[in-house]
Amino acid sequence: MVQELVRPAKLPRGAAPDSAWAYLDGKFVPIREAKISVMTHGFNYGTGVFEGIRAYWNAEQEQLYGLHLHEHYSRLLRSGKIMRIRVPHTVDELVGITVDLLRRCGYREDAYVRPVAYKSSPVIGVRLHNLEDGFTVFAVPFGNYIDIDKGIACHVSSWRRVDDNAIPARSKITGSYVNAALAKSEAEEAGFAEAIVLTQEGHVSEGSAANLFLVRDGKLLTPPATDNILEGIVRGNVMRIAADIGLPVEVRSIDRTELYICDEMFMCGTGVQISPVTSVDHRDVGAGEVGPITKRISKIYFDAVRGKDARYKDWLTPVYKA
Ligand code: PMP
Repeated sequence: MVQELVRPAKLPRGAAPDSAWAYLDGKFVPIREAKISVMTHGFNYGTGVFEGIRAYWNAEQEQLYGLHLHEHYSRLLRSGKIMRIRVPHTVDELVGITVDLLRRCGYREDAYVRPVAYKSSPVIGVRLHNLEDGFTVFAVPFGNYIDIDKGIACHVSSWRRVDDNAIPARSKITGSYVNAALAKSEAEEAGFAEAIVLTQEGHVSEGSAANLFLVRDGKLLTPPATDNILEGIVRGNVMRIAADIGLPVEVRSIDRTELYICDEMFMCGTGVQISPVTSVDHRDVGAGEVGPITKRISKIYFDAVRGKDARYKDWLTPVYKA
């Protein structure tokens, strides 16, 4: 018997309304028609690369701003290069498709865009060669998913970060997110909001799906790209903001115990945005409150992404025609 689909009046966070569209195999289709086979290689083996992109609604300007579209699609192509997945478009074409997609969806609220390039052949056999590549992108309404004002409690995960010689973290590979999912569920089920994941060597790498900054003695510290992090776009933004306000940044390996004695800490990423961390492993970070440097960077970031700071206009692509 075919069950009738009952949809709740209020959509769960991250779900698509029926009015949403997707771009799949070269054309736009309503989201409910955007389907792939159960035999799809990427579904069976995690052989896909993806991005998470935000678009911010500015109610005063009645404008939706795509954030860092060029940077995200450049990274998608780099991820694909590692995984031998060819994305069938240039970065400029991908940006154009995304603007078209968001216009079709017609969102007048914050949104999240998810492009995925994947091994699409419906065949059994673990490999990367001699397979077809597919590409899709869809967009859903999306607000904050971490309490960005209050600060979050984190713990050091018992799971270690995947290594560059096992599953390269700098390629945003669909299959590698089992590592993030293991860490995230362990953290939440133990009563923490987020995990901090260490490298095999025991250095601080990053959050489950976010990069990490510490403040020590008025200086920002963040792990290097070679400590198995995703080379985050917001991480780069934080460094630019730091340079603009004259804050020194040191990129170096970080020990676990530095998490316990630093003055301030925050996670950053497209999803978490700037999320202050106020405790790690039951130890207060600084005074256990959101610190002044974190507040300052956060304010600049949130103004920038909503098109309220002219200095950072280059981060944004307006979706609707003026
Ligand atoms: N690390 C991981 C593992 C992530 O999934 C993300 C989110 N894309 C980040 C860091 C932050 O990257 P970005 O700032 O580019 O969103």
